[in-house]
Amino acid sequence: MNQNKQAALAAVEKKAPLVADVADSVWEYAELSLQEERSCAKYCAVLAQEGFTVEKGICGIPTAFSAAYGSGRPVIGLLAEYDALSGLSQKAESLTREERIPGGCGHGCGHNLLGAGAFAAALGVKAYLEKSGVSGTVVLYGCPGEEGGAAKAFMARENLWRALDAALTWHPDDVNEVVTGSSNSCIQTQYHFTGVAAHAAGDPDRGRSALDAVELMNLGVQFLREHMSDKARVHYAITDAGGRSPNVVQPRSSVLCIWCGPTMWRRR
Ligand SMILES: [Zn+2]
Repeated sequence: MNQNKQAALAAVEKKAPLVADVADSVWEYAELSLQEERSCAKYCAVLAQEGFTVEKGICGIPTAFSAAYGSGRPVIGLLAEYDALSGLSQKAESLTREERIPGGCGHGCGHNLLGAGAFAAALGVKAYLEKSGVSGTVVLYGCPGEEGGAAKAFMARENLWRALDAALTWHPDDVNEVVTGSSNSCIQTQYHFTGVAAHAAGDPDRGRSALDAVELMNLGVQFLREHMSDKARVHYAITDAGGRSPNVVQPRSSVLCIWCGPTMWRRR
């Protein structure tokens, strides 16, 4: 391995405590998609401290950022994510289910590591550029809302990636491997149903249940699964079940669906 690459690896090793601190902090912040204020602020602070030129709130997304180092081509992008999931609060280093905050959010698939790993890579490339003196720019992009919100799609719409020669990303897993396949594309849709409220015991015939509509829709999704590609997924969460009284015909109800598939058009 040449000296420049050795310098890159040595820089990552040297910064390991900082990288671990970022990963641990983001684990504790555990913020939902597009609400990653503290996580984003943490990244922006440490990247500025490490000599990167940081721009926060890019593409009109408050918790997105870019952090650049170097000059000229090639321009290499690294993608960091840092959003959490609801209901998965978990104490660090516990191998059993232990909520850190009851009912709180948590990192189900390691986005605290995902962002921190990309940050470590950016530090390594910076050291490489410094040591070698070659032309080149590394840009770490803070990409919020991977679990929902899809900030990267809006960043693409703003032509953010056009300035790049290449972009690299990764995702924590239980094995070390290079994945060359394609990912599912994904659409998220929020459905709102409106019915007519009534006392469910006194005047049930006068009510029209919006919650029934959500249940029927979800049942339809179960039947749809038989006819989907093996790779396709549909996930849903009832985000509004109406009210809290069972003896009321619920006048409103909402379900949030994520539709994922290798293609977003129907095969004929
Ligand atoms: Zn993930």
